[in-house]
Amino acid sequence: MTALHTSPETPRLAVIGGGISGLTAAYRLRKLLPHAQLDLFEASERLGGVLLTRRAEGLLIECGADSFFNKLPAAVELCRELGLGDEIIPTNEEPRRALILHDEQLHRVPEGFVQMRPEKYGPMLSTRLLSWRGKLRLLAERLISSPKELANADYDESVASFATRRLGSEVFERMVQPLLAGVYTADPYQLSVAATMPTAFEAERQYGSLIRAALAARKSNASADSGARYGSFVTLRNGLDRLIKALADHTPNMNIHLNTPITKLTPTANQRWTVSQSPEIETPFDGVIVALPAPRATQLLAKTDALLGDSLRKIPYASSAVAVLVYRRDQISDPLDGFGMVVPSVEGRQIVAASYSSVKFPGRAPSDRVLIRVFVGGALQPELLAKSDDEIVQLAMTELSEILGIRDEPLRADLVRWEEKMPQYHVGHMQLVDGIESLVAKHQGLELAGNAYRGVGIPQCVQSGNSAAQRLVESLGLLCPGDG
Ligand SMILES: Cc1cc2nc3c(=O)[nH]c(=O)nc-3n(C[C@H](O)[C@H](O)[C@H](O)COP(=O)(O)OP(=O)(O)OC[C@H]3O[C@@H](n4cnc5c(N)ncnc54)[C@H](O)[C@@H]3O)c2cc1C
Repeated sequence: MTALHTSPETPRLAVIGGGISGLTAAYRLRKLLPHAQLDLFEASERLGGVLLTRRAEGLLIECGADSFFNKLPAAVELCRELGLGDEIIPTNEEPRRALILHDEQLHRVPEGFVQMRPEKYGPMLSTRLLSWRGKLRLLAERLISSPKELANADYDESVASFATRRLGSEVFERMVQPLLAGVYTADPYQLSVAATMPTAFEAERQYGSLIRAALAARKSNASADSGARYGSFVTLRNGLDRLIKALADHTPNMNIHLNTPITKLTPTANQRWTVSQSPEIETPFDGVIVALPAPRATQLLAKTDALLGDSLRKIPYASSAVAVLVYRRDQISDPLDGFGMVVPSVEGRQIVAASYSSVKFPGRAPSDRVLIRVFVGGALQPELLAKSDDEIVQLAMTELSEILGIRDEPLRADLVRWEEKMPQYHVGHMQLVDGIESLVAKHQGLELAGNAYRGVGIPQCVQSGNSAAQRLVESLGLLCPGDG
């Protein structure tokens, strides 16, 4: 590696990981310290991590993330700051809903069922997703008492336990489990309700009942998501990789090292950090932001701080694959009456969800084509990832054809694997992260960012990059708190 020519006053900063979290952190560091030396290390041959857009045959294919929530402002604000404000587009107006498979039929998610809070009785009572027994159990939710431990600020439980306790096992199995699997590809018996559904958890704390909380929100008009959560998701007209490119373009004088997996991170005596690519290539830095999935961060930090390594190791990651299938519209008999479907695990199928990309957003495929992304694997079916690409595509095609009534083979089929990319926020996750943050705070010049800690969505990752940059600069005494 070329020698670093910096004056003693020029701080040398490194970001490890070139996903949205690391790139945001680097961009923010550059804004805060225009004259710092800034290096970004990325293991793969491209920037973006889970944000990967491909273009071919008039298609715009989001292989990983495809949109972001605009009620958490960090990502929207970042896009605007980077001059991408005009490219932010909402989902199509219609058919703004999700579908759930039940007994081989697709059903609309009852309007007003958001964040586990049934805000409207009518749609919950008329849905054919639930039996009468399930509906009566749901209505009885107002009468169910809460556990005493709920008063304890640290109390947590699994999503399965919370949803079954409050709403009954039918609502859990047929609605909550698949809707959450569509987001976290997770095992609901381990998933933390405090970390993943804080609104529902807080609703029980405050009102003693989710239905009561929903009715109160309706009265005060405070409900943000009533029945149309898709209205809060946006994307970029020309693909999410526009954000990745804009971040790199607006971070001047950043040394980007692609194909450079970092293998070790060691503190040195003079309060610096040595970033190692190999025993021969080691570079000193004053400050480092590690923006990696937790298992990769563990590898770098376990030897430096065994306690920190142990804590990071407790955040497991699930893998998934996305089969991208393109059909002519006239091959599909289903009306595609939603933006996609989720598949409850009790249905005994192998696919987790399917997103009808070209129905959800404009400009994803020519008008006579349908672009569908099928999700396979996750925490509940990790064994499927051992299959070959062809086998996964085949199973996705077969199940989709059965559910949507599709004739013949797709015009195009691609598979993208996301190995260990989705963190699993298990019960106790928030306390675990509090502990990790206090351990990191003992190391001057070290910060963590990424989806492992306080949210998996793009806005939370952007926020984590912003905060890590700010903290690093402050902890190195390079900026007064409140500046920038
Ligand atoms: C399939 C899928 C779909 C999703 N869909 C959405 C969605 O629609 N909306 C939404 O808001 N969120 C979505 N998410 C979540 C969100 O996209 C991710 O949480 C987010 O993109 C993670 O960004 P990151 O930078 O923290 O991590 P990553 O994107 O994982 O980036 C980490 C980077 O670090 C690099 N790296 C790893 N090890 C090393 C090393 N040793 N040295 C150097 N570099 C290394 C990796 O190559 C990678 O580029 C989705 C996630 C998945 C998996």
